[in-house]
Amino acid sequence: MSARQRTPVVPLEAGAGPENPPCPACGEPLFGWIDRRPGLSGPVSRCESCGLGVVGAPGDPADALRELDRFADGDGLRIPNRGGFAAWIGGAGWAGLKPGSRYLFTVESVRRLVAYRDQVVKSARWSPGAGVATMWQTILNGFTFGRNVALGTLGSSTAVPAEKPWQRRLDAFVSVAVAIPALLAAVPLELIAAALRRGGATSLHLELL
Ligand SMILES: [Zn+2]
Repeated sequence: MSARQRTPVVPLEAGAGPENPPCPACGEPLFGWIDRRPGLSGPVSRCESCGLGVVGAPGDPADALRELDRFADGDGLRIPNRGGFAAWIGGAGWAGLKPGSRYLFTVESVRRLVAYRDQVVKSARWSPGAGVATMWQTILNGFTFGRNVALGTLGSSTAVPAEKPWQRRLDAFVSVAVAIPALLAAVPLELIAAALRRGGATSLHLELL
């Protein structure tokens, strides 16, 4: 037997394993993205192929679809876009990373997931209000100990308050003090992001095949 024949064959799934479980949307291996944070049920991994983010251990496609349906909005879906610019600049401070989040969706991951139930993404459009809010809160998260303090106070997100009372007091003050400057930065940033199809929130319409 020649040396060449003895070379072990590496299976295509070599990237997958206990450390890199398969993505529920597309089956490619998931890679670590963000360490466990307060308010999150585990570390966050992401798929390099379809962009899906997973908090803790991934489930199956049905599990991911159930979570996706929680983003129902009118006759479609509205997702914070993990493929957006805000998620990229925010990382662990991205406002779309909310307590209780299981999956962090991208348009491509939704496309893959809904195909399991014979649906196609008919349209994917930037959602301006939610996009600017996500960018704004992501910038504010860079100034506070807690997360999503401003949107939490406004009732449109769930905040992760800082641990110590003095930090929470400072966060409340900072959120007000930086609110306007952060908005002045968030609007042009999000407009650029949207122009590059990297907006922070996306409205999707699905259709049965
Ligand atoms: Zn994937």
